Amino acid sequence: MYMKSDFSFEISIVYDDLCAQPGFLMGFGFSTLIYNSLSKTYLLFDTGSKGDILVHNINKLNIKVSDIKKVIISHNHYDHAGGLKEIYQINHDIEIYVPLQDMKSFTGVYPEAQVQGISEMVEVDKNIFCSGQFGSMSLKEQALFLKTNNNNLIIISGCAHPGLKTFILKGQTLSKEINAVIGGFHGFRDLSFLEGIKFIGACHCTQKIREIRNRFSEQYNVICVGNSYLF
Ligand SMILES: [Zn+2]
Ligand SMILES: [Zn+2]
Repeated sequence: MYMKSDFSFEISIVYDDLCAQPGFLMGFGFSTLIYNSLSKTYLLFDTGSKGDILVHNINKLNIKVSDIKKVIISHNHYDHAGGLKEIYQINHDIEIYVPLQDMKSFTGVYPEAQVQGISEMVEVDKNIFCSGQFGSMSLKEQALFLKTNNNNLIIISGCAHPGLKTFILKGQTLSKEINAVIGGFHGFRDLSFLEGIKFIGACHCTQKIREIRNRFSEQYNVICVGNSYLF
């Protein structure tokens, strides 16, 4: 996509249920490993359902879990938070960011861990933002916004239970140039919101994946565990 020297972020898929490159494992759930070249930091967004699968896939990229500094959990469903146990067992120093509503359930399970509850949009690493929590009283979720050096925005979504549109609109407050959307789109059907987005990486729980692929055949990318993308 760009020269390796001038990228802002490298996003690697480390958990998904649709496809995997040779040597990588599939599983139910979603997770991406992000290398932020602006801060020289590794971050994890979501953890899939099973820690052993997740750790295998991370190691397969020649990254150690102990190299990861921060983990952002989109929402408290087992297919996104299930692998956190193994990650925390290996790396007790990792900073954990969860929707504020789920703070108590995480500090209950990880009383010694550095857990932060997020309510409003906040920068958690250089040019990387938690969206803030959105959704119903019973289910809150946050997405991740990555803003490149060129002011392009990448949205990473776990399941998008509050609606992908909600995260797209929130992301537009950071930058009008949305370059990519990657992750689970769930029941999202307002496909006109994807117009103009160059990289559409719908995967995991996306129900309208066939319609999205047909309508945006140029922009659609098949997301496989083990794939890495530079932005
Ligand atoms: Zn979910
Ligand atoms: Zn999910």
